[in-house]
Amino acid sequence: MSDLTADRAYELDRKHVFHSWSAQASLDPMVITKAEGSYIWDRYGNRLLDFTSQLVFTNLGHQHPRIVKAIQEQAATLCTVAPAYANSARSEAARLIASHTPGDLNRIFFTNGGADANEHAVRMARLHTGRHKVLSTYRSYHGGTQLAVNLTGDPRRWANDTGSTGTVHFFGPFLYRSAFSATTDEEERERALAHLEQVIALEGPGTIAAIVLESIPGTAGIMIPPPGYLQGVRELCDRHGIMLIADEVMAGFGRAGKWFAIEHAEVVPDLLTFAKGVNSGYVPLGGVAISEAIYQTFADRPYPGGLTYSGHPLACAAAVATIETMQDDRIVEHAAALGTDVFGPALRELAAKHEWIGEVRGTGVFWAIELVSNRETREPLAPYGGTSPQLAAILAASSRRGLLPFANFNRIHLVPPLTITAAEAHEGLDILDQALTEAASASHR
Ligand code: PLP
Repeated sequence: MSDLTADRAYELDRKHVFHSWSAQASLDPMVITKAEGSYIWDRYGNRLLDFTSQLVFTNLGHQHPRIVKAIQEQAATLCTVAPAYANSARSEAARLIASHTPGDLNRIFFTNGGADANEHAVRMARLHTGRHKVLSTYRSYHGGTQLAVNLTGDPRRWANDTGSTGTVHFFGPFLYRSAFSATTDEEERERALAHLEQVIALEGPGTIAAIVLESIPGTAGIMIPPPGYLQGVRELCDRHGIMLIADEVMAGFGRAGKWFAIEHAEVVPDLLTFAKGVNSGYVPLGGVAISEAIYQTFADRPYPGGLTYSGHPLACAAAVATIETMQDDRIVEHAAALGTDVFGPALRELAAKHEWIGEVRGTGVFWAIELVSNRETREPLAPYGGTSPQLAAILAASSRRGLLPFANFNRIHLVPPLTITAAEAHEGLDILDQALTEAASASHR
């Protein structure tokens, strides 16, 4: 494939590749020709610092030699086997994952990614409880398959909402844009829990199989739940026999400065879904970690679900190398320190300098800045579900200066690889600083 020029790759892409979530005709995808560590290169030879980890999955950066070697060695030994057989890559990946998941989540069902992990977690919860309905928050993303996109709260659900999936949405806590007119974390927590309690009562507790929550909502805005909220949800679930499904697809595997973000709340869910960071996305892999009680439901009764590539050896070998590297190189500790020592202080400094920054929030290597046109009214700098000339100007100025930023509506997310050095992180934050200055002065002209 190396003899295909980047220009030819672009031409063939525009002719034959149908892209996700997009109107096709106007697309202009960047051709990535090379990637290493925290950087990527485009077809014009420009080097960009990857503050996106692509779709927040290259947690150990690009072309990590240990993961590349593990995939090569697995490919040379045993490329693939069907799910019914056992093999060393899959067994060891499951053991390593279970060694880090909280509580008794010790059985691992492998999928190809995050959406199907959520689909299977819900199926398990429904069969375990004998109930159908599933609750999730408006500000969430759970995947692109039919049930997962209906669990999703963000606008990607709208065109897919057939009303037949048994999903019900509620408001999660988000103090900056409180749905409950709260002004403190405590108020937000109490009111959000009271609201959820009412939704459960009015939907009928005996009809609800599961509540699905991102432990820290990611694409929806990196909103850290107020202390005590997730414990409160756990308590409501216990009271009504509802399964708690923690979606850790984006927040898990070190991104939030813990192996799993739910550890911040010291809560053990009944099911935990993962993907992305489990193997840095080098080969598609996701899965569900299952509690002992739910496992017992399927001890003597067949689980009615499966995938051709469940626990694919190449993907699992990449997971083993990823998790071993994270352990050996103390990546989770590094991610936590980057949050407290670099991203937190530097972003708060940026907020003091730029009027457009309404709020900075995050932990570990999982940060968002919320951009507003007016700090008093908190008017978003781009509408919900859309973009604006100001956002486009910030993004363009960033990439011109060598930073690949992640944007969602009126927010910019700072989500580079967890392996990023403090110096590289500062390099990216400096570029963002300059891009904000440039875009703001252009808009005032
Ligand atoms: N859940 C969360 C929290 C996600 O962020 C994503 C993807 O961004 C998904 C689920 C879906 O994962 P996938 O795209 O691998 O199906």
